[in-house]
Amino acid sequence: MKHSIKAPAKINLTLDVLHKREDGYHEVEMIMTTIDLADRIELTTLKEDLISIESSGGFVPSDSRNLAYQAADLLRNKFGRKDGIHIFIDKQIPVSAGLAGGSSDAAATLKGLNQLWHLNLTTKELADIGAEIGSDVSFCVYGGTALAKGRGEIIRQIPAPPPCWIVLAKPTLGVSTADVYRQLNLDGVAHPQTEIMINAIEQKDYNLISNTLGNVLESVTLQQYPEVNHIKEQMDRLGADGVLMSGSGPTVFGLTLHESRAQRIYNGLRGFCNEVYMVRMLGEPE
Ligand code: ATP
Repeated sequence: MKHSIKAPAKINLTLDVLHKREDGYHEVEMIMTTIDLADRIELTTLKEDLISIESSGGFVPSDSRNLAYQAADLLRNKFGRKDGIHIFIDKQIPVSAGLAGGSSDAAATLKGLNQLWHLNLTTKELADIGAEIGSDVSFCVYGGTALAKGRGEIIRQIPAPPPCWIVLAKPTLGVSTADVYRQLNLDGVAHPQTEIMINAIEQKDYNLISNTLGNVLESVTLQQYPEVNHIKEQMDRLGADGVLMSGSGPTVFGLTLHESRAQRIYNGLRGFCNEVYMVRMLGEPE
């Protein structure tokens, strides 16, 4: 039996770190939304009692380090399943980019196996299981647009932002999320205005959304990788209404309402950046 499911990337409209907790995690507040740039996960049942992983792109582990593997393994153990599963990942989301590609693959695997194995788990139950794999997996199980708190696993869904174009540009460097958090110094850092962003989204106020984008992790990544700042400046110069780094980076995104403007930004960035994408916000869960 086969089951195919989309695993969309996310961007952060805000990312705030409130403090470091006693358990070592950072207490965060982030508004995330899914975009129309997605991996496709194909699950095929196997007769053998094993999990195998295959990916269309390089740089993705094909063993138990893969988050999709961990998702299948966790569900098998929790429900005592002996069914083998082959997971094929058609990789479209850039890796180590701040777009939650691995987390989304894990979330899609949980959702797909829930159907394939008739587990009848609710979205909340799947999101709670996802939190055991990684902080962004819970959000990816819900998809759409949400405020994530705690270490990212406390999810409050919010309405979709008004539709707009997103141009993404990823410089050819991968950023380790763990390293960025390790280097973060919260003294004097400018915090994003999360409540104002939520209101802006609820009011579908595109201009306020564009002006309220904010990510505390820029304070680390922009300093370490000046090329990320350079891309931000270029996007701004080319006419994006709001520009921000997503997650721990290095991907930068720009917002615009108009397709022709998005095309101009896209063309302008293609000159010095290999990986540029022009996509729509999904906004609502699929
Ligand atoms: P986030 O935004 O959640 O911090 P990211 O977009 O920065 O995530 P990922 O693409 O998820 O980063 O990859 C981070 C690391 O996870 C990489 O080192 C990669 O080898 C590993 N990884 C494990 N499973 C996957 C997967 N299915 N797809 C991509 N990377 C994976």
